[in-house]
Amino acid sequence: MKILIASNNQHKILEISKIFQNIEFKDIEISYPKKISDLNIQVEETGDTFEINAEIKSLAFFIFYNLPTLSDDSGLCVDALNGAPGVHSARFAGEDSNDKMNREKLIAELEKLSLNESPAHFTCSLCFFDGENILRSTGKCFGKIITEERGLNGFGYDSMFIPNGFDQTFAEMEENLKNQISHRANALSNFLPIFANYYSRLKI
Ligand code: IMP
Repeated sequence: MKILIASNNQHKILEISKIFQNIEFKDIEISYPKKISDLNIQVEETGDTFEINAEIKSLAFFIFYNLPTLSDDSGLCVDALNGAPGVHSARFAGEDSNDKMNREKLIAELEKLSLNESPAHFTCSLCFFDGENILRSTGKCFGKIITEERGLNGFGYDSMFIPNGFDQTFAEMEENLKNQISHRANALSNFLPIFANYYSRLKI
């Protein structure tokens, strides 16, 4: 079975593929849009929860590529900002913003409150769709956001996020370590037993 990662974000694709690699599922091939076609789709994320946006992406990519899809909708929720940027993480500084602009906006919002850190967490919602069955899971990673950027690895808000129990930001960590403790890793580890159950029923 081929599973398409329903995302155009190469960082997410790489992280999901690496986490999946450690798991023994015979006959499963993980693929991604660029591997299949030069065309790609931009999906409007109109939902107000991570779960709904993951579902929107999974269905849209399934219709476009006609393959079972696994989507990831994720984001950062900062306590001092009442959960913002949340589902707007990718566009926090505006529709055409990039990761750097979003981090600058986050720093500015915290500085307005005279804060240089705040408790925060990342959430990742996964949604698998094969045209008939929908499987969902969510994972979180708790820690704090700091206004000083540290580290060069990763993407998004990684250089500002220190997970609980660590001194390094996600961007200072070896990617393997991030991939063991991240919201995405937790969502995938919650997803795997659900997927294993679905997959064993398929094979009967
Ligand atoms: P999505 O594509 O709508 O799911 O938006 C995800 C956004 O959340 C990304 O563009 C990042 O800003 C942020 N994000 C999600 N996961 C991570 C992560 O693992 N590290 C850093 N930022 C992340």
